[in-house]
Amino acid sequence: MGLLSLGTPLPWKEVQKYADHVREHGIEQFLHIWKNTKDERGNSLLWGDEVEYMVVSYDHENKSALLSLRQAEILTALEENEKRQRKIEDELGVGSGQRIPTFHPEYGRYMLEATPGQPYTASLEDLLNVERNMNRRREIAKEHMLPHEIPVTLTSFPRLGAPGQFTDPYYAPIGNASRSFFLPDELINPHARFPTLTANIRERRGSKVAMNVPIFKDKNTPSPFIDPTVPYDRNLYPEDANARQGAALPDHIYMDSMGFGMGCCCLQITFQATDIDEARRLYDQLAPLGPIFLALTAASPAWRGYLSDQDCRWNVIAGSVDDRTEEERGGRPLKNQRFVIPKSRYDSIDYYISQSRECRPEYNDLDLVMDDKLKKKLTDAGVDDKLANHYAHLFIRDPIVVFSELVDQDDTTSSDHFENIQSTNWQTMRFKPPPPGTNIGWRVEFRSMEIQITDFENAAFAIFIVLLTRAILSFKLNFYIPISKVDRNMQVAHRRDAVINEKFYFRKDIFAPLYHSHDVQSNGSETASEDASVSLYSSDANASTDSIVNKTVKPVEEEYDMFTIDEIINGRKPKPTSNGPLSDVEDEMNEFPGLVRLVQDYLDSMSVDVETRCTLNAYMDLISKRASGELYTAARWIREFIRGHPKYQFDSVVGSEVNYDLVRTVEQLTLGNEWNGAGESLLGGMSGARYRSS
Ligand code: ADP
Ligand code: MG
Ligand code: MG
Ligand code: MG
Ligand code: MG
Ligand code: MG
Repeated sequence: MGLLSLGTPLPWKEVQKYADHVREHGIEQFLHIWKNTKDERGNSLLWGDEVEYMVVSYDHENKSALLSLRQAEILTALEENEKRQRKIEDELGVGSGQRIPTFHPEYGRYMLEATPGQPYTASLEDLLNVERNMNRRREIAKEHMLPHEIPVTLTSFPRLGAPGQFTDPYYAPIGNASRSFFLPDELINPHARFPTLTANIRERRGSKVAMNVPIFKDKNTPSPFIDPTVPYDRNLYPEDANARQGAALPDHIYMDSMGFGMGCCCLQITFQATDIDEARRLYDQLAPLGPIFLALTAASPAWRGYLSDQDCRWNVIAGSVDDRTEEERGGRPLKNQRFVIPKSRYDSIDYYISQSRECRPEYNDLDLVMDDKLKKKLTDAGVDDKLANHYAHLFIRDPIVVFSELVDQDDTTSSDHFENIQSTNWQTMRFKPPPPGTNIGWRVEFRSMEIQITDFENAAFAIFIVLLTRAILSFKLNFYIPISKVDRNMQVAHRRDAVINEKFYFRKDIFAPLYHSHDVQSNGSETASEDASVSLYSSDANASTDSIVNKTVKPVEEEYDMFTIDEIINGRKPKPTSNGPLSDVEDEMNEFPGLVRLVQDYLDSMSVDVETRCTLNAYMDLISKRASGELYTAARWIREFIRGHPKYQFDSVVGSEVNYDLVRTVEQLTLGNEWNGAGESLLGGMSGARYRSS
């Protein structure tokens, strides 16, 4: 959607002059879309995933696994293949009944992204096509690579930016776009957009980006750890001084370039809602799940040749595109800039947008920075306060890349300026308006998950999230907690083995009670109330509508509690209270059912054929066991693989041969091979590739 429009990208100095122009016309474009589609109802569920791959090039002789920079050649071959397939189907006049996967470029010149080709439908049987399609994508990708190249779905490549060679071919870590100590610019997709993004983020910020991930202190890791691989004395670019001036922290793995973040792979899911209101509800309801599924899918324990003491990519990407100036980051008083901005443009969402009654104002407890002029433009045009706030907040950002040919647009037909800002707000959730001139509806994207090693796992997580949206809608589930608590969960999710060791804020009573706002007393305290929450989900749902409506409101702090991820996913028994044993009724009410049971109950309410149900049960089993710790996350599995390798010196260093053996083992798992039981702790005996044709 204009993302890869061809043209001449302006340098940062020029882009600045157009910032207001892009923002104002972007909002204008949004208003056209909104006016045309806000009343559309009855779109069906369509959904699709995005899987990102790294292309690995083996050098078997030197026991080395490198990142192949042949993205362009591979994509060209894949595009021709896709055209050929579509032509054959057209000529035969019948579809093969299978979707023809589509491949896209990504930031890294070693990366590919693939989507199913056509979205999946609401039919439960269609869920069987997801893993099949993912297997097929991997096969097709491999068919268009060289014999020594393979697609792998690792979230972070352990030796990206490590000393020596990590790309094929080799390039010295020098380049004017990123000015990195560690990554050559040749690693960046050469399309003008990407080097320009990289350079303009650095220029806007006024320094290189700086990510510091805590190092995993192993038996032989020096303490304090002062990284010998940081070239503190280099004087090639002015920004080389950043590291000496404190950007590189002791006891941390320092990274200084966009590629460390945008060069990671992830798993994203997009759903179409029936209408704008449902999309807004799903956006909100899925937001608190972002950190939970980040921890559950954790898959990135190694960075720049070192083991880290965190398991997830998120804060690395957030830092890697953090274009805020020092003033905006609060480092010095505001003088040249308009706002102090608490977060990077890549981060967890700041604001709930649903107009449903469950969305209590207290949940939006972050100070929202907004562009007041744009907010007025939105509300003057009739947009409600919440949606206006959402966009007035996203549109505090500057455009980073502007193509000179695309400055003037027809706002009634184009969404280019809108997408310029919208799609460079990379957040845990994205609210996607219909692209003009299409019959696509309002959509919501779930963006926090890390990519999994096998397609079996990726299908499991993609499908679980989709089924969860169905359960949310059917049972009117309510996952709201204050958004500041979601932020805190996001930080905790990064910790090593967070999935089994940490507790997360989560809502206790998830069966959306429909409160009347007049039940809240002016002092905010609860009115006298006989019953606890009432379920819309249980069998008495119809009977008790009145009591639900007249229910009183608990203080927000009583609505949530600390949960382990095991409890969130697999449920928890009621806590005994000081008043002695619970009655059966209280017992029922205090029990938290767990997300797996909610999805199972949803499936029970549908007619599902045996084959579909068995497959879905296997996916839910995986997620359930990841949550309980019976199966490892990819992060834990990778960490243990590295620490168990005979060449590992217990000094946190992930050497080239260790990396090579890791990638070869990962390849075997993606092919569904047992490889002496290597994947047992990850997959528990399930094949990672059940539908491969070869
Ligand atoms: P982006 O990179 O902007 O997030 P992509 O086009 O790469 O978007 O991927 C979007 C996903 O949404 C794909 O899996 C695609 O199959 C799916 N999709 C396409 N059309 C629809 C639709 N109308 N509703 C929901 N999902 C859709
Ligand atoms: Mg995409
Ligand atoms: Mg994208
Ligand atoms: Mg992508
Ligand atoms: Mg996406
Ligand atoms: Mg979009």
